Amino acid sequence: MMLRTLPARTLLFLGLCLTGRRGLASAPELREQPKSIAVVGAGIGGAVTAYFLRQEFGTGVKIDLFEPGTVGGRLATEEIGGAEYEIGGSIIHPLNLHMKHFLDRLGLSQRRDVPSKMAIFDGEQLSFQESDWFIVNFLRMLWRYGFNFLRMQMWVEGILDKFMRIYQYQQFGYSFSSVDRLLHAMGGDGFLLLANQTLEEAMLGAGFSQSFLNEIVVPVTRVNYGQSVRINGFVGAVSLAGAESGLWAVDGGNKMVCSGLLYHSKAQLIPARVTAISTKQRPMRTGGMGLSMYEVNYVGDSGSAHSLYDIVIVAAPLHQGLSQIAFQGFNPPIPSHFPGRYHQVVVTLVRGLLNTSFLGVTDPPSEFLVSDILTMEHKDSVISSLSSVDPVQVPSGYSRPPASVPKVWKIFSPRPLTEAQLSGMFLSRDVVREKRWLAYPLYDRPLRRTPPFVLHERLYYLGAVEWAASAMEMSAISARNVALLAHHRWHGQAGKIDQEDLHIRLRSEL
Ligand SMILES: Cc1cc2nc3c(=O)[nH]c(=O)nc-3n(C[C@H](O)[C@H](O)[C@H](O)COP(=O)(O)OP(=O)(O)OC[C@H]3O[C@@H](n4cnc5c(N)ncnc54)[C@H](O)[C@@H]3O)c2cc1C
Repeated sequence: MMLRTLPARTLLFLGLCLTGRRGLASAPELREQPKSIAVVGAGIGGAVTAYFLRQEFGTGVKIDLFEPGTVGGRLATEEIGGAEYEIGGSIIHPLNLHMKHFLDRLGLSQRRDVPSKMAIFDGEQLSFQESDWFIVNFLRMLWRYGFNFLRMQMWVEGILDKFMRIYQYQQFGYSFSSVDRLLHAMGGDGFLLLANQTLEEAMLGAGFSQSFLNEIVVPVTRVNYGQSVRINGFVGAVSLAGAESGLWAVDGGNKMVCSGLLYHSKAQLIPARVTAISTKQRPMRTGGMGLSMYEVNYVGDSGSAHSLYDIVIVAAPLHQGLSQIAFQGFNPPIPSHFPGRYHQVVVTLVRGLLNTSFLGVTDPPSEFLVSDILTMEHKDSVISSLSSVDPVQVPSGYSRPPASVPKVWKIFSPRPLTEAQLSGMFLSRDVVREKRWLAYPLYDRPLRRTPPFVLHERLYYLGAVEWAASAMEMSAISARNVALLAHHRWHGQAGKIDQEDLHIRLRSEL
């Protein structure tokens, strides 16, 4: 499916990897560099920000990174029987070029691939079960949905082609001051329209059938975002791209990218929670007031403290239940929480023996080799998906056992599972681990207005991008954008911000 465009993208990827520090950093400095920068939050967004800030501002700047929890944020693992399993962000698209670049830079590798098989559960039985044979899958899809399936691949491909432009822009040092401008630079009015309508509206408008949406697209949006096709069209397309082949994960756990980038950036990790950010005027030796600075107040194990910074980047979501930062003395005021809520996803890891009859399967469990069970919307459905998962480090010679053998299953559900529900799903279980996430925005209405990247003159916000789509790569793209934006605004390089028609202008430069 990707053959048509892959060579150009591969070249772009090679270009991105081969470009060294000098190539990646922006134009020469025009004024003195900042002395200190604070990054709030050490998820993938904060870690990538620290990495690119170091590239942009050089070795002289002090970078402090505040994190009260574990480095990685929503990238996390859970231990069962001596092995670790991903319990947060798990899969990475083959064309997520930032994540690929970090792997190369950090000397990490992709986890060994274990062949998987997918099925769709309609609430009573498996309405679709992938065969080992490509031709069988193809004919089944053709028979049931006509050319909807092929057209969907082309539709996603077209969006992905435009999405890939962001890497070229960033490679040339261009940045964007809002999510709308970033989307527009990638895909013009078409991307803004996509983000401002639901996936359902976009796909019905493009001629897809309602039954295809209900039976194929909904299961994909439910497994990736725990939500229906009423999510915005842009995140919907990201979700459908996440159903393509070639998905990968980091050997040893995705969160290793965060700790690796942190080490590489030579940022100082401060294990503390930021409570407030305010502006402070720095007195000059010559008298009078100098450039204003940001005072960051924080609380750690050794009590509360504060420090001054030239630039601050907030890489924690400014939403209810996710962070609690007071922005003091700003005019216009900056809210601690922007409108909109995050969607709860409960991840339950169970080591046990699956009760396949719960899925309406009549074949013996020893013959049940499906690894990923997606679900349609159904009035009685309590789960969004069920997958047999492999450890973050796959031992050599490992193959996924059939359902007749106790193994680790991962269940996504909107609410915690009760004992009775677990007993219905498993014949036996000896380990159950539960993690409740406020996982990603509740995309219950199209995008309309996103929070800004620029909160104040030199105060930036990374999480704005999640309202277009939440994914590791989106945080990485946002992090690079904000690092570039901070650099260009500091040095007054307006020509590198919000430029129009870049894809046409840069074509001749490549
Ligand atoms: C269950 C689940 C499955 C997912 N699956 C995928 C997937 O397969 N593929 C994919 O690409 N994405 C996936 N995602 C989404 C992906 O994990 C996120 O988009 C991404 O990790 C967000 O990274 P971030 O750094 O922007 O935010 P976070 O990871 O949330 O990091 C923010 C950090 O800020 C810290 N913080 C909060 N408040 C403060 C404060 N006051 N002071 C200092 N620090 C603070 C937090 O402790 C946290 O560590 C999934 C997410 C979940 C929850």
